[in-house]
Amino acid sequence: MPDVTTEASHPLYVPLRRLRAEPAPAPPAPAPPLPVLRLAPGRLRNAILGGAGAVALLWGVQARPSARLDAFFASGAHLTGLLAGYGVLVLLLLMARVPAVEHGVGADRLARWHALGGRYVLGLIGAHALLALCGYAVHTRTDLVTATGGLLGYGAIAAATAGTALFVAVGVTSARAVRSRVRHEIWRAVHLGGLLAAALGFVHQLAGPDIAGSLLVRWLWSMAHGTVAVLLLWYRLVVPVRAALRHELRVVEVRDEGPGVVSVLVRGRGVARLCAEPGQFFRWRFLRRGLWATALPFSLSAPVRDDTLRITVKALGDHTRRIRRLRPGVRVLASGPFGALTAHRRTRRKVLLLAGGVGITPLRALFETLPGGPGDVTLLYRASDAAGLVLREELEAIARERQAALHFLLGRSDDSFDPLAPRALRHLVPDLAAHDVYLCGPPAMARAATANLIRAGVPASRIHSEDFDHA
Ligand SMILES: Cc1cc2nc3c(=O)[nH]c(=O)nc-3n(C[C@H](O)[C@H](O)[C@H](O)COP(=O)(O)OP(=O)(O)OC[C@H]3O[C@@H](n4cnc5c(N)ncnc54)[C@H](O)[C@@H]3O)c2cc1C
Repeated sequence: MPDVTTEASHPLYVPLRRLRAEPAPAPPAPAPPLPVLRLAPGRLRNAILGGAGAVALLWGVQARPSARLDAFFASGAHLTGLLAGYGVLVLLLLMARVPAVEHGVGADRLARWHALGGRYVLGLIGAHALLALCGYAVHTRTDLVTATGGLLGYGAIAAATAGTALFVAVGVTSARAVRSRVRHEIWRAVHLGGLLAAALGFVHQLAGPDIAGSLLVRWLWSMAHGTVAVLLLWYRLVVPVRAALRHELRVVEVRDEGPGVVSVLVRGRGVARLCAEPGQFFRWRFLRRGLWATALPFSLSAPVRDDTLRITVKALGDHTRRIRRLRPGVRVLASGPFGALTAHRRTRRKVLLLAGGVGITPLRALFETLPGGPGDVTLLYRASDAAGLVLREELEAIARERQAALHFLLGRSDDSFDPLAPRALRHLVPDLAAHDVYLCGPPAMARAATANLIRAGVPASRIHSEDFDHA
């Protein structure tokens, strides 16, 4: 049983205590529809593909059929160049943190699409440069080296070349093998260079025949770029600054939750207006030495109450180790909420929450708040040993309050018995295939669990996950 004195002094425990004193609660009514706009992933994907089709059409109506080799190269260069320009715009839009997109598609999926799209865009830029170079060399009857020198004499092409070099730097630092060796701050600084690259590319496109040839196209292309620039500025700069001024968040308590794990309570003014939902996360910037320069993503580990937000952080690296040394009173800038691992994804009455390690944090908040009667919600929590279980007493209290099933699955990942194997899952969760599954854990565990759930009969569309590696 949790310590009662601690509970009384802890604002987030109050409702649990109150519930415990009362007779068994009636099943909560379904959550009212939230006034939050959400763009479904499929719609966004179709819109992106539709935009690419429109760009290809723009190229098609301007292309002049010709049997000449230089015209063939030029035509290919125009198509790849237009698609690359459009692709850059999409990459920026995916990272603009527009709430309807963040809440509907999810930050991790957006980051994965951004990474995949980045590879396509780099390929298109490379193809565009090569085709343009070949076309120019054939046209001027020179070799590729002379043609390169000639092309670089054009201002717009020199700008595009500088932009390409920056994009290549972004691509190289994002490659898995390099990314794990580069500090996050360096990776982010190089990524900011990508904005300059996009601007240089835009200058280049405005000078090219496909865009410059028509006033209407020039206008539409500029409008699309202007819109994305405004969205980026608004949601990545204006909104966080406004929220910082409005809510004046400060650390009110840091408490030990176990080896290397602390919970941080942050309070401010009008926090409820942030409309943060259980399962979502914020990007936190703690204004103290060693932490202010980086915004770290952490999920809410409890629902928002009394203008208080709570995160639970495992010390894994330089920044997370410093978080345990935070003191009450430290100013906090939090941008968000982000993420789509929320109640709105639910499609079934029965829900399985499957957590691994510190992935328990968003699921802890959902475990308490997802509507449902006795037996509707099950939490499976995988950890290597009992000492690694975070927020254990709270989880047990919630399970008792709402008569939900709670299983701790202990054991090392290389043990011969796998508690997340399809048979073991079906044994722990009868009627597993009729559940929605919310999943959050280390990437390897999440991948294996997803495959096992599918083998156990849960459709992939009903597995909702959050990836702590992408945001
Ligand atoms: C959506 C989301 C929710 C998360 N929720 C929690 C949570 O509730 N509790 C918890 O303990 N951890 C959570 N994490 C993980 C946590 O953000 C990282 O462990 C933390 O940023 C590592 O920082 P570090 O400097 O201490 O570690 P490092 O060793 O420096 O970094 C470890 C890893 O974290 C990544 N990382 C570092 N800084 C950032 C940053 N500013 N933004 C994004 N990634 C970064 C790096 O790419 C690296 O792979 C979450 C991650 C995401 C993406």
